[in-house]
Amino acid sequence: MTVSSQKPFTATVLGLPRVGPRRELKRATESYLAGRIDADALHAVARDLRRDQFAELLAAGLDSIPVGTFSYYDQVLDTAVLLGALPPRVADIADPLDRYFAAARGNDTVEPLEMTKWFDTNYHYLVPEIGADTTFSLNPEKVLQELREAIELGVPARPVVVGPITFLKLAKSATGSPLDRLGELVGLYRELLRLLAEAGAQWVQLDEPALVTDLTADELDAVRTTYAELSSAAERPAILVATYFGHPDAALPALAGTDIDAVALDFTAGVDVAAVAEVPALANKLLVAGLVDGRNVWRADLDHGLAMLATLLGSADSVAVSTSCSLLHVPYTLAVETGLEERLRSWLAFGAEKVAEVRLLATGLAEGPEAIGAELAATRAALASRKADRRLEDPQVRARLAGLDAEALRRAPAEERRALQRDRLRLPSLPTTTIGSYPQTSAIRLARAALRKGEIDQQEYIRRMRAEIAEVIALQEELGLDVLVHGEPERNDMVQYFAEQLDGFAATELGWVQSYGTRCVRPPILFGDVARPTAMTLDWITYAQSLTEKPVKGMLTGPVTILAWSFVRDDQPLADSARQVALAIRDETVDLQGAGIRIVQVDEPALRELLPLRAVDQPAYLEWSVQSFRLATSGVADTTQIHTHLCYSEFGAVIDAIAGLDADVTSIEAARSHMEVLDDLNAEGFDLGVGPGVYDIHSPRVPSVEEITTSLRAALKAVPAQRLWVNPDCGLKTRGPVEVTAALRNMVAAAAAVR
Ligand code: GLN
Ligand code: ZN
Repeated sequence: MTVSSQKPFTATVLGLPRVGPRRELKRATESYLAGRIDADALHAVARDLRRDQFAELLAAGLDSIPVGTFSYYDQVLDTAVLLGALPPRVADIADPLDRYFAAARGNDTVEPLEMTKWFDTNYHYLVPEIGADTTFSLNPEKVLQELREAIELGVPARPVVVGPITFLKLAKSATGSPLDRLGELVGLYRELLRLLAEAGAQWVQLDEPALVTDLTADELDAVRTTYAELSSAAERPAILVATYFGHPDAALPALAGTDIDAVALDFTAGVDVAAVAEVPALANKLLVAGLVDGRNVWRADLDHGLAMLATLLGSADSVAVSTSCSLLHVPYTLAVETGLEERLRSWLAFGAEKVAEVRLLATGLAEGPEAIGAELAATRAALASRKADRRLEDPQVRARLAGLDAEALRRAPAEERRALQRDRLRLPSLPTTTIGSYPQTSAIRLARAALRKGEIDQQEYIRRMRAEIAEVIALQEELGLDVLVHGEPERNDMVQYFAEQLDGFAATELGWVQSYGTRCVRPPILFGDVARPTAMTLDWITYAQSLTEKPVKGMLTGPVTILAWSFVRDDQPLADSARQVALAIRDETVDLQGAGIRIVQVDEPALRELLPLRAVDQPAYLEWSVQSFRLATSGVADTTQIHTHLCYSEFGAVIDAIAGLDADVTSIEAARSHMEVLDDLNAEGFDLGVGPGVYDIHSPRVPSVEEITTSLRAALKAVPAQRLWVNPDCGLKTRGPVEVTAALRNMVAAAAAVR
């Protein structure tokens, strides 16, 4: 098969969601894992989901459809399987599905692969491990089978595989740089291309989002040689290399200089028409223009899209319309959202609506704007109604933000605050505390479900939550903890809970998005200016405080985290939205203080996640994210102690931002990274209170007193006693009550021993 004989396509998307419009795959997988259904039943659910999805995309008029982006758990894990790169500890498990899920989730005897965020999204992938004992081999059954299945259904199938550079850059290697192994992979990819062509694929898509990150000169060379070799294969489908989430910069001419057939670019994330015009080698390629935002929920501006397409035509051999990235990151469809207000709804596009937008743009490009005249008019009307909506500009919020001066952001120097707080709180040295949540028991979940179904009223719900709070307070008193929490029973989720109470946010009913494996989240939609109509946490926290003499921490989520886990406005900079959320949180801290609360914790676990992919963009982000935290936390008196909590183990680029937050006490994940983070903080001159997690809550194992004592002693080598706090490394909501009680008892005993 010769490559030039492949017809370019005109309308596509880069990838598909897979949990099912009603989370069918999640349920089936959980049933399989619990032993309630067998592998055949699970495969049948998956096959039906794929078939229905293909039917919809065909009906919507796409002329090239991604195949193989389906996954039982994660596409990077699928690629590790494809390349024979599972670690030896799971490779011996005989049953393929057991092996797969063991790699994903671990079992009684093996640890799973590590999980981390997929670029700057909230999707988590499994990190491949490459060691000296990794011998790559090709296992193409999954993608070949899905390809055959699609071809049988009459689908213009374009198999999608994570490309070799991205795969290796995401892997962690025990020996040297993972890219050292590139040479071994290229042969396997060439063989894969041959098999795909033989099975009837006319196109293949290799996903290379790693090309939008900073690459070294050697890595750019690797891009050139890898794609030169892959495109020189005699038997292969036409090759599309997909970049997304940013601008490929120097990687674009590198790619375009090879004989690949098409490049996908993300025009919603920094690529513009000028950048394309500067790469003459694109003139003989298909340009797949990611004009429809694949990871946010706003309706596309079709006029703008058509104008861009007209210009792009001059720079490429042909142009296809696409989403900017896979539809994995948005909900399936707006059609089922009956509860959304009509006006807001007209501004939005979820997965199915984005497919329709792609089709419209492709038609408009091929046949002229008149061919989509009615839709252009409808879009213009919707966009105009959005622009004119009064909720997009709350004059009061804007005036308050404009009026804030430097004084409003100032707290006394840390040392002064420390002395004031010491006198007021009178805590023992090495104070013990927890991160906020206690186990979400079935009683809590049942109460929430009953309230939702109308089986109990608000009053009864409050009564039950208060009973939970009373129990958690009594438990902490009995265990002898020093700074107590209310346990967060009333929160389904640390972002949704606040979004539901703030003006400017809307919630969906079925807007589920895969976060990892079988776990889905329903991100709120930020559409307008943010304001806090009334206090959000005050009643719960003051109730908890009324039950004890010890200080109870007020517990809030920070502005960066609230935005990171929401769909955000695209009509103003994220930094502006962050200031508005910060103002609302600030008002809450002041209310808590007014009600006698002496310590307030503002969690920012997502601070690291939003860090821009390119180093040049990072300082500006760190500047505004730190400022928004300070805005949120500087409204209180110097006697009120501000805590924060961050949870990830790779601090690297954000380490000096942690000092910049200027929180009186910072609790961080350290149990798994063995306290190294303390040395990193010291190197930055950090001299505030710090609570390095003394045990890993991600495992059900109860740590012994000796173990915790050892980690405390290790921490004391890096941090003087008057700054050190004792706490687990994250919230306890996913753990069981029995193990939590035992672990905290040991933690308190260890603190006493070390004192
Ligand atoms: N306060 C939250 C809790 O304890 C923090 C959760 C988190 O770190 N992600 O659950
Ligand atoms: Zn945490």
